[in-house]
Amino acid sequence: MDQGFFQLSNPENTLLPSASFAVAAIFGAIIGSFLNVVIHRLPLGESIIFPASHCPSCDAKLGIFDNIPILSYLILWGRCRACRMPISPRYPAVELLTAILYAFVFRHDGWTLALPFDLVFVSAVVVLIFIDAEHMILPNAITYPGLAFAVLARLLVPNLDGLGLLHEGALALWPLEAVSLVGAIFGALVGGGSLWLTGWIWERLRGVEAMGLGDVKMMLMVGAYLGWPRTVLTIFLAVLTGSLVGILLMLRRGERDMQMLLPFGIFLGLAAIISLLVGETIIAWYLG
Ligand SMILES: [Zn+2]
Repeated sequence: MDQGFFQLSNPENTLLPSASFAVAAIFGAIIGSFLNVVIHRLPLGESIIFPASHCPSCDAKLGIFDNIPILSYLILWGRCRACRMPISPRYPAVELLTAILYAFVFRHDGWTLALPFDLVFVSAVVVLIFIDAEHMILPNAITYPGLAFAVLARLLVPNLDGLGLLHEGALALWPLEAVSLVGAIFGALVGGGSLWLTGWIWERLRGVEAMGLGDVKMMLMVGAYLGWPRTVLTIFLAVLTGSLVGILLMLRRGERDMQMLLPFGIFLGLAAIISLLVGETIIAWYLG
């Protein structure tokens, strides 16, 4: 037997990770089910814990089989068991997306201390994306704790992304946590600051509010968490995809103002998740 056989049949390299991905995806679907509750209730000012899940149309309580992520929607053909009113496809969409994202985050992090933090970050961003899509708001109830969480995460899991040169130079003797904290503040200023500045300039030029403060607060959180290089990438990807979709929508509907059509938080959120998962690769490819 040669080395190759051992490597191929090593359960640590093959069997265990794929089982772990499945577990991560199932865990993600269950969390996605909870995120649905937050997405539905938070903008309405309802408690996210009480009462138990119920049909938004007829108030019928959901039984245990009506509450299985993704599957229940398929089994019920997308309708409430009691009143037959259609259930929003947002429910299975959030569950499926969260399942996929959790598997990718697990693939990215493995069993590291970063894993729980990245899962929370991705979950918060999913909530922001779907609330912005439906209500055109990015609630402070997510962005403020999100910013605090991001700073805390950078303290507990020092991430020096975007501070390499500074860390070797001026901050060389600083403790890792302090350097990471400086990186978080710098990232937040780049993220929130650039959006705020764009909005301010636009307002001066056109006399209309271009950028909601929600977007600015969201990017404070994203910037603190990702560090400035991946934050710049996030804004670049969001502006690129947002403009493309905006132009397509304007062409189709004949509208002249894409702002009225587009909640920018959707694009910022998707771009932030891409930057978290493959940002380093994209930036390395761009620089090299
Ligand atoms: Zn119902």
